[in-house]
Amino acid sequence: MPELILKPGKERSLLRRHPWIFAGSVARTEGRLRPGDTVTVLDHDHRPLARAAWSPHSQIRARVWSFEPAAPVDHAFFKRSIAAAVARRQSHPWLAGQDGLRLIHGESDGLPGLIVDRYGDVVVIQLTSAGADKWRGAIIDALVQATGCRAIYERSDSEVRALEGLQAVSGLVHGEMPAGPLVIDEHGVRMVVDVAVGHKTGFYLDQRENRALTRALARDRRVLNCFCYTGGFSLQALAGGAAEVLSIDSSGPALETARQNLSLNPQLPAARAEWRAADVFDALRALRGEGRRFDMIILDPPKFAPSAAHAERAARAYKDINLQAFKLLEPGGLLMTYSCSGGIGVELFQKIVAGAASDVGVEARILHRLQAAPDHPVGLAVPEGEYLKGLACQLA
Ligand code: SAH
Repeated sequence: MPELILKPGKERSLLRRHPWIFAGSVARTEGRLRPGDTVTVLDHDHRPLARAAWSPHSQIRARVWSFEPAAPVDHAFFKRSIAAAVARRQSHPWLAGQDGLRLIHGESDGLPGLIVDRYGDVVVIQLTSAGADKWRGAIIDALVQATGCRAIYERSDSEVRALEGLQAVSGLVHGEMPAGPLVIDEHGVRMVVDVAVGHKTGFYLDQRENRALTRALARDRRVLNCFCYTGGFSLQALAGGAAEVLSIDSSGPALETARQNLSLNPQLPAARAEWRAADVFDALRALRGEGRRFDMIILDPPKFAPSAAHAERAARAYKDINLQAFKLLEPGGLLMTYSCSGGIGVELFQKIVAGAASDVGVEARILHRLQAAPDHPVGLAVPEGEYLKGLACQLA
C-alpha cells in the first residue's frame, strides 16, 4: 500500500476527523501512486492515521475514506458506506417518503467527492474527486443494491472536476431511463426534473423544507419569487393560498419548465401566477417604477461567492438585491432571503441583510433561520459542508 507522510504537526486536523489533506501538509509519498489510488496516511513519526484517496492535481491532495488506518477500501467498503447513508435517510420521518432526495452528500456522509440524488426510481451521481472517479464501478453497483433503482445517470459535469484533472462526463451509466419526463412529488406538488440538463443534478433538493415554510406563510400574500428556476417556491406559494405570485428568472428554459410544472398541477390557481424573464437586479428596480408592492419576497440567487476570495464582490450583490427587496415590501411583509455561497458565512450574511434594512430605513426581525434540508447534513468535523443559509425576516 502506498504511503503519504505528513509534515510535522499536520496531523492535527486529521485527529479532529477533518477529511482533507492539503498539498502544503504533505512531506512525501512512498510507492507508485496514480490519481485516485488509496494511500495510508502517516504522521511525521510514521504513526498510521487514515486511508485516503490520492488527488495529485488538486490543492486538496488527499481525501480520507476511513479514519481506521487498517480498513480496506474495496467494493465492500462502498457497499457498506452507501447502504448506511441510504438507511440514515430512511430513518428520518421528513425524508423517508420523499420522491426527490439527496442520498449521499459527499464529505458529510463520509464519501468525499460523491454526490448522489434520487428522483423516483432514477438515481443521479456526481463524481467530483479522483478517488470517487476511480471507484465508479463499485459505487454504481452499491447504489443499484441499496436503492433498487431503475436507472443511474451520471452528471459529472461540474467545473470542480477540472481541478482534479478529470474530464466532464455525463450520460446513462446503468439501466434504462423511464419514457417521458421525470416527475417528482414535493409536498403534493408535481415537478419535472430534467436530470440531463437541469441545474445541479436536476433540482434544488436542498430547499425542500424552506419551500414548505414558504407554503405555510404564503396565505393571502402577494408573493415575488426572484431567481425562481423551475418555480419550486412559486408553486408552493400558490399551494399555500398566495393572492398572487410573480416569478422572475433570466433563464428562458427554466421559465418554460416552470410553466410546464404549473400545468402539471391543475389543482393550483394558474391565473394567480405571472412569469417574467429578466435580470433580477434590473427587475427589482423596474418593479418599483411600476408601483408594485409585495407581502412576501423570496431571494434565492445563484452562488455569488464560490469561495472566500469572492466574498467582497458577492457581499455587494447580496446587499443590493436585499435592499431593493426591502423597498418593495409592505409593512408586515416577509423577506425569505438565501445565500448558497460557501464563501459567505451565516454571520456575514445576517450583517449584509441587516445593513440593507438599515440603509432603506426599515425595521425587521428574524422569524426563522434557514438551512439546507436534512438530507444535506453537515459533518460536525467538516464545517465547509455548510453552504446554504437563509433568513425569514418580517418587516415591522
Ligand atoms: N429557487 C430555485 C433555485 C434557484 S437557482 C428553486 O427552488 O428551485 C438560481 C436561479 O437564478 C437559476 O434559475 C438562474 O437561471 C437564475 N439567475 C441567475 N442569475 C440571475 C439574474 N441575474 N437574474 C435572474 N435570474 C438569474
